[in-house]
Amino acid sequence: MDIFAMNVFNDAVMRERLPKATYKALKKTIEDGKALDPDVAEVVANAMKDWAIEKGATHYTHWFQPMTGLTAEKHDSFISPTADGKVIMEFSGKELIKGEPDASSFPSGGIRATFEARGYTAWDCTSPAFAREEKNGNVTLTIPTVFYSYTGEVLDKKIPLLRSMEALSKQAVRLLKLFGNTTATRVISTVGPEQEYFLIDKSFFDARMDLVLTGRTLFGAPPAKGQEMEDHYFGSIKERIAAFMKELNEELWKLGVLAKTQHNEVAPGQFEIAPIFSTTNVSTDHNQLVMDTLKKVALHHDLVCLLHEKPFAGVNGSGKHNNWSMSTNDGQNLLDPGNTPHDNAQFLTFLCAVIKAVDEYSELLRVSAANPGNDHRLGANEAPPAIISMFLGDMLSDIVEQIQNNGGAVSSKPNGTLTVGVSTLPEIPKDNSDRNRTSPFAFTGNKFEFRMVPSSASIAGPNMVLNTIVAESICQIADKLEKAADFNSELQALLKEILVKHNRIIFNGNNYSEDWVTEAEKRGLPNIKSMVEALEHFIDEKNVNAFEKHGVLSKQEVHSRYEILLEQYSKTINIEAKTMIDMANRLILPAAAKYATDLAGSVQSVKAAVAAADTSAQEEVIKEVSSALGSFKAKTVALEKAVLGAADVEDAHANAVYYRDIVFVAMNELRIYGDKLETLVDAELWPLPTYVEMLFII
Ligand code: ADP
Ligand code: MG
Repeated sequence: MDIFAMNVFNDAVMRERLPKATYKALKKTIEDGKALDPDVAEVVANAMKDWAIEKGATHYTHWFQPMTGLTAEKHDSFISPTADGKVIMEFSGKELIKGEPDASSFPSGGIRATFEARGYTAWDCTSPAFAREEKNGNVTLTIPTVFYSYTGEVLDKKIPLLRSMEALSKQAVRLLKLFGNTTATRVISTVGPEQEYFLIDKSFFDARMDLVLTGRTLFGAPPAKGQEMEDHYFGSIKERIAAFMKELNEELWKLGVLAKTQHNEVAPGQFEIAPIFSTTNVSTDHNQLVMDTLKKVALHHDLVCLLHEKPFAGVNGSGKHNNWSMSTNDGQNLLDPGNTPHDNAQFLTFLCAVIKAVDEYSELLRVSAANPGNDHRLGANEAPPAIISMFLGDMLSDIVEQIQNNGGAVSSKPNGTLTVGVSTLPEIPKDNSDRNRTSPFAFTGNKFEFRMVPSSASIAGPNMVLNTIVAESICQIADKLEKAADFNSELQALLKEILVKHNRIIFNGNNYSEDWVTEAEKRGLPNIKSMVEALEHFIDEKNVNAFEKHGVLSKQEVHSRYEILLEQYSKTINIEAKTMIDMANRLILPAAAKYATDLAGSVQSVKAAVAAADTSAQEEVIKEVSSALGSFKAKTVALEKAVLGAADVEDAHANAVYYRDIVFVAMNELRIYGDKLETLVDAELWPLPTYVEMLFII
């Protein structure tokens, strides 16, 4: 309790340190979305500076989230010279509200040329400023900001997210009014992201060029033991890891991040941390802080944290479960069914809005979960599958069926209780749905859990999409209901219509089974297997229209993002391919050749000592190594050629397709022989830490 939020300039600190009038004006800005008065900013800036200096800060930074998916910061000190050759510490309202980083080196997707360097950061006062403390004692006042260009185009991930939150709020409030709710003036989307990650010993990481440059292993033979014993999941946490987690939690708590749950994950060396949910924009900022803190704190323990979606072939990769719901400012969770959901018309309407949104915009949701790392998971025989469907569970599915068949629902299946059969244990009330671990979009009691989100990515994109598509759905529903002569009968007809049309998206079975793939195809659900294929849908007219209609992204902004993402894909595969070639030529090939030479020397020495000695074993291995090495070299040359060929494909989309179909395929072929050599060559000569070392020795 003492350390929680001690480094956050939050509501409590503001109430204590700001003059009453200033505090009230700022609160109004934050809560009602009013524009900020420059005079208010001046007073807030001064109080913020004093607070930060007391914490030991010398610098401040506008912290923003460009299209790299990471965060960016440039530090300025508070010093300002005085006439007598000294300095005073200053921080003005202007400096708080607006910053101007040179923006030319951030991806803009053709919105601006490099010479158009002006970009601005602007204070997002809905996410509190904080003092970032490093291990060496450095403290920086960090101000969450948004980032846009001189001509007003959006260059970051935060502005569209904030806009989507406003769009959702506007439409949801409209619908709530129709249900007679006049007290809710805002609806806020809430998010709790569960973050998966790997930890490996730093010495192994440092010895792997692929991990250093790409975040994943590009070579590596499978270990004798993987995750098949299911002994790591929820296993006892090792002391070294527990020490890391303790420091991680403390650092996060100081920053006001509600770090709550931690456990061992399925793969060896894999873990998870989940915070308690908060508003979507704060949650997005906090998730960035979680990822950054994971990496920094790991180093204090001689560990390296890997956030890549698929650092190791053959064991589970990492994702983020994005738990999402909507809450009113008078404290109602709009996705809470209550005990008798069948007569909770308001809940059923919001539920139907989400069902309609997910079915109509499933491609867009798939786009929001696409990144190069996730191509190794989605659609590649790993959880979750690439086909978007929704899990509702028994109770809601039953109600949905009643509405679909009869136009209305008359009962809710009782949840019942579970009797464990041991007399000392109490009867345990059952939840209204099981969890279904295989669904990519599951209703889990009072929220939806979008499970496709990549572990390394910002959650801004997926939530921007969720907010926008649900806003559009609610908008269409409200349009109809507002015109209705009789609200109740119109509502009943409308919900039935939505469910009849969109029930194809509901699937409560096993999403990993082959049968589901066939069934989904029959239902006409898209099965989008790669990032490039997903991106093609980003610019579909339907999707662009939804973004434009709700003022989230303009057509130009969507197209620029499309270009940026295509380029990011091509660049990622290009770096991976070049890293592989380098490792092949300078590490693996020399080691394998040396081993063959050593064996040949051994044959000669043994024969020289005992002419009749049997050297067939060495000779056999020489043959095997030489044969694998020959193929390995040929595949390296093929990959080199494939990479060179990319220069001839200019169009961004065609270039990305080339990287996926030609370069990536050549990489996989090379890896087969690299991994084969690893199983043949003397362990003493092998130049890379193995999967056994990386996954099990921590
Ligand atoms: P799981 O069982 O899927 O591992 P966890 O308990 O680890 O789930 O995480 C569930 C997450 O969902 C937590 O971050 C929790 O705060 C969040 N959550 C709970 N209620 C809501 C809500 N109304 N809106 C958004 N997120 C929520
Ligand atoms: Mg989960």
